[in-house]
Amino acid sequence: MSDYNDQKYYDENCIFCKIIKGDIPSSKVYEDDYVIAFNDIAPKAKVHLLVVPKPHVKDIMATDDFLMANVLEAIKSISKKLDIADKGFRVINNCGASAGQTVFHVHFHIMSGNLTDF
Ligand code: AMP
Ligand code: ZN
Repeated sequence: MSDYNDQKYYDENCIFCKIIKGDIPSSKVYEDDYVIAFNDIAPKAKVHLLVVPKPHVKDIMATDDFLMANVLEAIKSISKKLDIADKGFRVINNCGASAGQTVFHVHFHIMSGNLTDF
């Protein structure tokens, strides 16, 4: 297993790395050794947060099984904590600019309530 706290997994130009480091503020909902989750700054649903693995990997294609297993467990924990597990929620990942990815540090949108089709 890689040491994901190693400096090489941090990109000084990445806004999510800065949030993970605590250099810029966020509305944090969840954190463990490998994953952080915070509310999206421009919510598109009643509940809209971002689940972000701590290492700087640019998109889902660059993830590994270990990281994704931690993301999945975090999603389950967060959905229970926020009481949306029973109500239902979406998990969305945009991979690549043409798919709408704007921050190139892999992340998963959790959205619940007042969802519109898109
Ligand atoms: P994507 O378009 O899939 O790359 O999603 C990037 C998301 O990051 C967008 O929904 C933005 O609103 C959100 N975002 C960008 N900067 C911040 C920030 N500083 N804090 C919270 N969310 C952010
Ligand atoms: Zn990053």
